[in-house]
Amino acid sequence: MRTFRCVCGNTLFFENSQCVVCGREAGWCPTCRNIVALLPGEPGGHVCGNPGCRAALQKCHNYAVEQVCNRCLTIGFAPSASADAASQPLCDCCRFNDTVPDLSVPGHRQRWYQLEVAKRRMIYMLDELELPYGTEADRFPLPLSFDFKADAIPQDGVWRTMGNQERVYTGHANGKITINLRETCDVEREKLRVDLQEAHRTLIGHFRHEIGHYYWQLLVPGQCDQSFQAMFGDPENPLYAEALERYYRDGPPPNWRGAYISAYATMHPWEDFAETFAAYLDMVSVLDTAYHSNLGGPGAHGEFQAMLDYYCHLGVVLNELNRSMGLIDLVPEIFTDQVAAKMQFVHQLVRQPSAGA
Ligand SMILES: [Zn+2]
Ligand SMILES: [Zn+2]
Ligand SMILES: [Zn+2]
Ligand SMILES: [Zn+2]
Repeated sequence: MRTFRCVCGNTLFFENSQCVVCGREAGWCPTCRNIVALLPGEPGGHVCGNPGCRAALQKCHNYAVEQVCNRCLTIGFAPSASADAASQPLCDCCRFNDTVPDLSVPGHRQRWYQLEVAKRRMIYMLDELELPYGTEADRFPLPLSFDFKADAIPQDGVWRTMGNQERVYTGHANGKITINLRETCDVEREKLRVDLQEAHRTLIGHFRHEIGHYYWQLLVPGQCDQSFQAMFGDPENPLYAEALERYYRDGPPPNWRGAYISAYATMHPWEDFAETFAAYLDMVSVLDTAYHSNLGGPGAHGEFQAMLDYYCHLGVVLNELNRSMGLIDLVPEIFTDQVAAKMQFVHQLVRQPSAGA
């Protein structure tokens, strides 16, 4: 990730909606692809603060009204998926939302905000990698959408024993990514992380894992089934439901670190791919940030081996920095030859998304 500059000279960050020094409103300009100060424009509109751009901008509905977004649209361009013609249009990230949290529940707006922050970072990297995605209105072959939902809660506010109908599963199905709102709660998420013995459990990690399932469905079946199977195994044997049952009964094999990026990746080839895809997005995001922070390296667009080597080098330093603060390791993975080969498979797939193998 880059940092950005306000017209007053102060540094702006990707999540900012206001400059803390001059107080000007800030937001994402889709024309110059920067976080910029929003200067006064036509009534109800703004002008991009980047002197080389000066695009006429309008805030996303979820920025102006809901305050969970910081993106603008170029005036005159309304994405076709904006649900209600009478409302302000939705930006290039918010237009993928099918279900947003019930805002009559106290605290849900803040939880929704956290989800949008993580989602925008994930989408930023998809755009950097020029990965394809689109909506049903775009006639995209696998329309992408998001459901942000909470488990059903009874009137007395006590979690009850829930049937499948009331329980929200974080996951991906045919382009729809569902995230359980409970994942936005730091206490709940950390409890799950410890229970499941995961190295990390983060909101952005959930988005990166689920979008991995999305790109599997978009880029693998009928295009590179054989090379996928040679690398990750046969997704039909064992079947997913059997693999799931076995994993939660027996756990991962004892020496899983030789061939898998995480314990969960051992469950089924689809989960192996999604975990590897998420780790690949982690790597390119860290390399991109390092490059734009003058730490050198190949950034997000290098040769695979140079990227992995620099990531491992940075990982040692970053882990030591975290340990000096008593924090968990930033790069906990071990990149054995087999794990690196799976990462390279993802690298080749996303760098030539239409080519297949
Ligand atoms: Zn400023
Ligand atoms: Zn601009
Ligand atoms: Zn938006
Ligand atoms: Zn998964």
